[in-house]
Amino acid sequence: MSKRMEQVVWVPDPNEGFVLATIVDLGMDEVTVQPVGASKARLNLPLDRIYTADPHFDDKDVDDNCSLMHLNEATLLNNVKIRYSKDKIYTYVANILISVNPYIEIKNLYSTDVMTKYKGKSLGVLPPHIFAIADKSFRDMKVLKQSQSVIVSGESGAGKTESTKHLLRYLCYQWGSSNGPTADQKILDANPVLEAFGNAKTTRNNNSSRFGKFMEVHFDNSCCVVGGYISHYLLEKSRVCIQSSEERNYHVFYLLCAGAPPDIRSKLTLANPDDFNYLRKGCTQYFTNSQTTKNLENNQKSQLQNKQGGLKDPMLDDVKGFSTMDEALSRLGLSNKERCDIYTIVAAVLHLGNIEFEENIESTKGGCKVTEQTEHSLSIVANLLSVNVDELRQALITKVMMTNRGGLKGTVIMVPLKQYEANNARDALAKATYGKLFDHIVHRINTSIPSKASSYYIGVLDIAGFEYFTVNSFEQFCINYCNEKLQQFFNERILKEEQMLYEREGLAVKKIEFVDNQDCIDLIESKNGGIFNLLDEESKLPKQSSEHFTTEVHKRWQGHFRLALARASKLKAHREIRDDEGFMVRHFAGAVCYQTAQFIDKNNDALHANLEGLVQESNNPFLQSLFASSTLGANKGKLNFISVGSKFKSQLAELMEKLRSTGTNFVRCIKPNDKMVDHLIDGGSILSQLQCSGMTSVLELMQQGFPSRAPFQQLYDMYKQRLPPKLAQLDSRIFSKALFRAVGVNEGDYKFGVSKVFFRPGKFAEFDAIMHSD
Ligand code: ATP
Ligand code: MG
Repeated sequence: MSKRMEQVVWVPDPNEGFVLATIVDLGMDEVTVQPVGASKARLNLPLDRIYTADPHFDDKDVDDNCSLMHLNEATLLNNVKIRYSKDKIYTYVANILISVNPYIEIKNLYSTDVMTKYKGKSLGVLPPHIFAIADKSFRDMKVLKQSQSVIVSGESGAGKTESTKHLLRYLCYQWGSSNGPTADQKILDANPVLEAFGNAKTTRNNNSSRFGKFMEVHFDNSCCVVGGYISHYLLEKSRVCIQSSEERNYHVFYLLCAGAPPDIRSKLTLANPDDFNYLRKGCTQYFTNSQTTKNLENNQKSQLQNKQGGLKDPMLDDVKGFSTMDEALSRLGLSNKERCDIYTIVAAVLHLGNIEFEENIESTKGGCKVTEQTEHSLSIVANLLSVNVDELRQALITKVMMTNRGGLKGTVIMVPLKQYEANNARDALAKATYGKLFDHIVHRINTSIPSKASSYYIGVLDIAGFEYFTVNSFEQFCINYCNEKLQQFFNERILKEEQMLYEREGLAVKKIEFVDNQDCIDLIESKNGGIFNLLDEESKLPKQSSEHFTTEVHKRWQGHFRLALARASKLKAHREIRDDEGFMVRHFAGAVCYQTAQFIDKNNDALHANLEGLVQESNNPFLQSLFASSTLGANKGKLNFISVGSKFKSQLAELMEKLRSTGTNFVRCIKPNDKMVDHLIDGGSILSQLQCSGMTSVLELMQQGFPSRAPFQQLYDMYKQRLPPKLAQLDSRIFSKALFRAVGVNEGDYKFGVSKVFFRPGKFAEFDAIMHSD
């Protein structure tokens, strides 16, 4: 008993995730513990919240968490922390790679020498690495003759995009062709372009991707890179018009203002970013051409870098950023004219934001007009978009409507817009134009990547993880829906496949239950009254209101476990919200309260008919082509409109189908702290990220099962030299049995399957240590 009393355990701690404690007293279902550290008070905890600590918990780390004796969230967190402190940012949990953002360049981690080392090596032969996952995907593709995917997930700033780039670089380096404008070079060139147009500085990440992407690298039947394809999801269009304080608009706006050659800037009437409303609303700090990096005083530079925690500040790189983007576009095959067309649209969006309106007191019809001070901006926009200035003015301040009353039925009338309505029309035009431009750029990159007959592909998914802020709107709703689908897929693959493997191999292992989230997915996407469906229905009503929509949601899903009234939420919202102002969804990763005020607007990106007509009939053929394939459209009628939600739903269905048809690897990226600095670890936050990513359920499964495994042949190859030659003549299965008996491995610690031997947690490592002890 006294030995038991001294047992060291992990107990939950709000700051560190888990801390060590000793057991003071064991009750029936409660334990009294004394956290290590003099100042800490004793705690009473339920039994299931404490975890046995592994021996050597304080300094010894393992490459694969599954080789630990005790597999649970506390030992995983501890292992990840110890490794991080030694600059080992990668850790495996079986085949899943955990990657903790180092926020600093770790010397020689991604060099070509390292890439060469990882080529052809099975997972586990070398220390955990993103290159090992890339190589495994390639080998699986080749051996199994099946396309592969890598799902990279994690919260904003966790390192998804950097990981994606390392994966793609590895694949292109190993199996791309080394010269000429080939597919692999173009795949790599796509990144700086996508980042210029789709990334922005946010408070969470200086280079935050505001869209999701799935990048496919295609291989021919001799396994050389021959093509690529990019799909993109949910660009955050609202950022074009407004950003939170301390945040920026998309990089490209600043790149153009600061870095474009003088002739382009003068042609597009671009100068100081501060001149533009769309750039002024967030972060006001930036540097123009005359204040480039080299002109900054060194101390000013280092002050800024300190503020950014030693990170390279993209604000300082706007000049270089322009040439990087422009050269990449050029290598992708875009002519001077094509690039100039693109920059013209970007500039037009900026100038559009400067058009302001005021009430028109002179007119008897009410409405508003363009202010005299901003008439100049109106003519710049008209010029850049090649539309008639008066038609542009009209399209911004009036709305075309069809009367359906009396003798005038069917007559088109012009309804003047109020000042705020004209603001909205202007912003809608800016967002639609930028969104279309982004679509075009992705499409253009896709057409530029040569695509010879491809046999298989490796696709890398880089998409935002589960989000939950003080105020959550439609964007969070869509991204969390996506994460529910990905979580379901993760469960399917990891948990179900693990159990199926045990079955296939004839191992009798207890079935482990995981929480199926199909009910949450139904709540959101069901054709029969799912939230997206109710939102679309609301949009078709003559008089739409977010209160009515919200009430309908509550009515339809009353009593459903996954949905609750907004006030059930314990979130710190800015203000109390009424039940008709939002709802709460119980997601797999936690409950999120959504405010629905802008759901209807954000779900509909159609332009007013006259704005759409204007751009479609522009004399600028490029602008015309952007809107040519428009499926939007007030003029297509409310009943047929394709909403943002339903488009995303079908894109996601297509993606899921692709993922299901591939072999999959998972990379879970973790953000170590909110300050974006190196060598600082916030245990509580890491723990919650590990929980959100489903890692804790994986560990539960592994703890009950046999997490370390090795094919008989592998064991044979590994140990045959260490045994007498007589034994080495045996068949690999019998060899393995003989080997275990000879070493005296406990029979309960392993099981023989059909093709592999399986070990209980920690036991393979013990066995391996014995084999290498002499
Ligand atoms: P978001 O969801 O906002 O797009 P993200 O998960 O894609 O975030 P990244 O942009 O990949 O995050 O990473 C954020 C920053 O962290 C990078 O700009 C870089 O400074 C740093 N970083 C990420 N991964 C690494 C790494 N492996 N080595 C060094 N620094 C890194
Ligand atoms: Mg990113």
